[in-house]
Amino acid sequence: MKYTIATLASHSCLQILKGAKDEGFSTLAIATPKKNSFYQRFSFIDEVLTIPTYQDLYNIQNNLKKRNVIIIPHGSFVAYLGNDYDNKLKLLHYGNKKVLSWEGDRLKQREWLEKAGIRLPKLYKNPEDIDRLVIVKFYGALGGSGYFVAKNKNDFAKKIEKINIKEFIIQEYIIGIPIYLQFFYSPLSKQVELLGVDRRYETNVDGLGRLPHKFQEDLDLEPSYTVAGNFPIVIRESLLPEAYNMAESVIKTSQKIIPPRGLYGPFCIETIVTNDLEFYVMEISCRIVAGTNLFSQGSTYSDYHFDKPMSTGRRIAREIKEALEIGGLAEILN
Ligand code: ATP
Repeated sequence: MKYTIATLASHSCLQILKGAKDEGFSTLAIATPKKNSFYQRFSFIDEVLTIPTYQDLYNIQNNLKKRNVIIIPHGSFVAYLGNDYDNKLKLLHYGNKKVLSWEGDRLKQREWLEKAGIRLPKLYKNPEDIDRLVIVKFYGALGGSGYFVAKNKNDFAKKIEKINIKEFIIQEYIIGIPIYLQFFYSPLSKQVELLGVDRRYETNVDGLGRLPHKFQEDLDLEPSYTVAGNFPIVIRESLLPEAYNMAESVIKTSQKIIPPRGLYGPFCIETIVTNDLEFYVMEISCRIVAGTNLFSQGSTYSDYHFDKPMSTGRRIAREIKEALEIGGLAEILN
């Protein structure tokens, strides 16, 4: 049977479909009218299917089903299809949809990471307990927009009063550098692979650092963390064993809390590394992240696992191909 790999025309669509084509699949981009002409530019996309809005995907599912379409989710799925897309999407879907509820709830995600023995920033349930620099994060904020940093509990009280938001978490602010570890777990080989490492280019926190200190003070600006791009990184080799240990532990724990399959496929552990070279994990993303777009030709790290250029998009397609070869497709689709 022939399968077509498809995704929404956004986020990491180019990488996913290029990888699928490299592995020999037919490819389909599902676009809105504005995006159509851009995605038509690329020869590795066999078809750009245009629908009025992304939500109209739900109306054409029967058609796509007949074509044996396999949907690869990416970081814009929840934004475009709604956070109940896991129930509404009836097509073959790569990845475990059950992971979404654990990932999407900050406190459940924390429980998962704690069970995995991961080092996390301290969480303050009561603002009265704030005893150091903290970062205040809102629910559903995308890319850190609107977060604020507070020096102490009085500073927190002053800042939270100005905004009318009830749902937030208060987290210890870790002084260090952000490092994003892009992994892939294959339930077929039962191996974790590091496919790339990046950091984000965030406005305005990265822009503020370009100003001399006295201007920063005068401007009285709060740092914000809207992602505009990503940089590749190589990390000290001595940090790699710990990176792999964290990833393995996250996977093993997921198999216990979301049995039987847990998390598999691409995921990203988002960390801050301190001066003591310790990883603190801010969160995990349980799908392909936009930072993988850096490595459409593979990275230093994917090169240690594969003798071909291996992007995360291509790795997904290869996994599907291998599953097809051994009759194990049901194991990786949901
Ligand atoms: P996304 O869902 O897009 O990954 P988000 O809205 O959940 O983003 P976070 O990734 O949690 O946001 O945080 C955004 C940015 O804020 C990070 O890239 C990092 O620079 C900074 N940040 C978050 N938590 C901490 C922390 N505990 N200490 C220091 N900096 C932090």
